[in-house]
Amino acid sequence: MNRPGKRGLNAETVSSVETGVVEYMTESASSLRRKKPLKVDPDFKNKILDSPGGETLRYCFQCGTCTATCPVIRAAGDTYMVRKLLKMAKLGLKEELLNSEVLWYCAVCHSCEERCPQGVKVAEVLGALRNLAAEEGNLPKGLKALASNIVKFGLSMEMSEDQEMWREVMGLPPLSKPNLKHVRRIVEETGLAKIVAEGEADEP
Ligand code: SF4
Ligand code: SF4
Repeated sequence: MNRPGKRGLNAETVSSVETGVVEYMTESASSLRRKKPLKVDPDFKNKILDSPGGETLRYCFQCGTCTATCPVIRAAGDTYMVRKLLKMAKLGLKEELLNSEVLWYCAVCHSCEERCPQGVKVAEVLGALRNLAAEEGNLPKGLKALASNIVKFGLSMEMSEDQEMWREVMGLPPLSKPNLKHVRRIVEETGLAKIVAEGEADEP
């Protein structure tokens, strides 16, 4: 099991902690204005800790260094605060978290993990959360389309005759055909086929 890091506080970390505290205070003020109570699943945290990749969530002490480090925040603004996602996970806000679009914003760059003083494998924890969201059928539309192509063709997109021809014109070798029998077995055993089938049945 991964152990928390033993890195000491330096000026950079202190500044990140300050950013986290400001974020926490702003967020607390806005939650006071919330009228409807949120639904809490007390067992959700344990489910994440038991999921592959989710184990290090237990070490997060909410310093905010990950939020201060994350490059995605520069594009997404304060809609994407990774520390907040981890806090929601620990609080058991399952429904709110697994239905959240921002859960899919992480670019898996691992920058936050380089600086996390607790050794939390943030991208892996978010991966565990995404898997749980996918199990509940909550996949973003674009990813659903890619997953559907993988189930049907063994590739993330169907190769047309034109594309094959352009590969040849550009001097690229022909694309090797995936073994659909093997692909079928993988998508069945991982549950991907079921997720895709349920998603297609839900479509209007
Ligand atoms: S994951 Fe690490 S850096 Fe982020 S809030 Fe938790 S302890 Fe701090
Ligand atoms: S791994 Fe994800 S959450 Fe962490 S810094 Fe990169 S994009 Fe942000």
